[in-house]
Amino acid sequence: MLPIKKPDLQHLVDLHARDIVSLVAVIMKVKPMGTLIVPLGIKRWFQRFCENHGLVCLEEEPSDTYQARIAVYQDEETARLGKTVKEVCHLFDEVRRNHSISRRKKACERFSKALTRLEGAMFGYPECCVEFHAERGPSSRAKAYEEFLQIGKDQSIPVEFWAVAHAPCSSTCRKTLETGRKYLDALADFSEQLNDHVKSRLLLPRFYQTGGGRFIDLQPLDYDQRREKLSISKEKFEEEARMRLTEPFEIVLCDVPRPYVIVGAPEVPPHKTSFPNPNMIGIMWLAFVPGSSAYMVNAKTGKLALYIVDEKWIPKVGEEWRSSSNFRIYRSTR
Ligand SMILES: [Zn+2]
Repeated sequence: MLPIKKPDLQHLVDLHARDIVSLVAVIMKVKPMGTLIVPLGIKRWFQRFCENHGLVCLEEEPSDTYQARIAVYQDEETARLGKTVKEVCHLFDEVRRNHSISRRKKACERFSKALTRLEGAMFGYPECCVEFHAERGPSSRAKAYEEFLQIGKDQSIPVEFWAVAHAPCSSTCRKTLETGRKYLDALADFSEQLNDHVKSRLLLPRFYQTGGGRFIDLQPLDYDQRREKLSISKEKFEEEARMRLTEPFEIVLCDVPRPYVIVGAPEVPPHKTSFPNPNMIGIMWLAFVPGSSAYMVNAKTGKLALYIVDEKWIPKVGEEWRSSSNFRIYRSTR
């Protein structure tokens, strides 16, 4: 493999670390395809970079204000297959939306599961995890993290779990560990510099792993070293958090890089529930009650970044998303 050019490296690090892993795994042919979140500023470069590496890329849906969702395929044949699967999925969703299917509910469920299995295979996800997801639905993403909590391993999750894009079927899923290791090894072969960058990013603690797989990486900061430069003191933030969350809650001052995906939505004050949103980047104060609620403000501007409590959030998304694994900080180990 030729050494990667400096301008390419500069753009590549604008992708989230997990997406860098996915992209390189597709380039190195250890993964058939991946869907990546690409910041708009690097979209054109990204498409050229993929073409230069022999990949086929297709935009999944129109870009929003923050990012494009781009599917990358290792070759034309996989791209054609991927496109057909996507079309079938869209068609099925449309039929389900526009027609009463109650009489054929069972058949539709079976078809929907078959599609999930097909998609899982296209992405190269382990069969056990695909099967679990097909049977239990998207909120099953929480299961592995609930198990990590139960066995006291939530602060030492194997880094391989951070390197994969799928929801692991359990905290001990051997296939997930193998898949993550294969991707990380491919990255190490592809570029030493990129590998160093990704590893340092994957090892950052992350907040709120499970709701739809959304999370923010964060670097905890020392308050005493920063206090001069912050407009919101720890005491002030603690007082604010006390008015909004039930005690006891945890507090952390942290630096938040651009999240994996950015979500914007109309909000009903005083809450701000879209996660992760564009206001969550920079030096932040974060307070959270593990499992149930969180409050976050920018420590320099005082601007609200997140105010979410279970009573507000669960009715909106459905009871199946309630999980002890929500609103927590997870850490990874090498
Ligand atoms: Zn599995």
